[in-house]
Amino acid sequence: MPYVYRCHRCRATSPPGTRHAAEDARREHRDVEHGGLAPDGERIVRVPGSTRHPDGRYVSTGGLLAGLVLLALAETVARLWGR
Ligand SMILES: [Zn+2]
Repeated sequence: MPYVYRCHRCRATSPPGTRHAAEDARREHRDVEHGGLAPDGERIVRVPGSTRHPDGRYVSTGGLLAGLVLLALAETVARLWGR
C-alpha cells in the first residue's frame, strides 16, 4: 500500500513508501522548503494501481476454488454429451 507525498507548489513528489513515510516526507518538506508552513495543494495520495491491502490484487481462494469446480463440471458435462 504505497503512498507518496506531493507538493503541488514545488511540483515535487516523495518516493513511494508507507503512509508514515509519506507523512515524514511531508513534515520534512514543510520544514525545509516552506519554513514549517503547509503549502497549498499538498497531499498524500495512494500510488495509482496499488491496493489497500497487498493481497487485495490476488483472487480470493474461495473464488479460485469455485472457478475450478465450474471447470470440472463443464468438463464432465462435455464428456457426457460427447458420447
Ligand atoms: Zn513544496
